[in-house]
Amino acid sequence: MNDFLCPKCREHIRVGDNIIFKVKNSRKQSGILLLSSQIGNYTSIKHPSFEIRNGEYLEFFCPLCNAPLMSDIHKNLARLILNDEKGKNTDVYFSQIVGEQSTFETDGESVHVAGADAGKYTYFKIGEQFKKYF
Ligand SMILES: [Zn+2]
Repeated sequence: MNDFLCPKCREHIRVGDNIIFKVKNSRKQSGILLLSSQIGNYTSIKHPSFEIRNGEYLEFFCPLCNAPLMSDIHKNLARLILNDEKGKNTDVYFSQIVGEQSTFETDGESVHVAGADAGKYTYFKIGEQFKKYF
């Protein structure tokens, strides 16, 4: 099973089948959000009292060190480190927009793309380090 690490503190934030996040919605309310650790599975779990709306921008934070996970590639994309069963680290980018299904996994040489909305980011100016893949 893949492990997911915070890029800042490098601690484990996958527990069981879920990755644990602290998120802040556009009304500045904070909550805990669980996302599936399977890439391409966009199931999420949260408490019903924490309201998120489709299309809303969420800020994702590490639940352990509180670092914002926003990537330097695009403000809509958060970044995590994926540590696979062989111990290889890759970067995983996913959309912070509620309901937007786009995930990119890259080892710096190749990119694996998942999600129905992933194509959206190929049209953005997403920084030189990533642009060469599209
Ligand atoms: Zn952290």
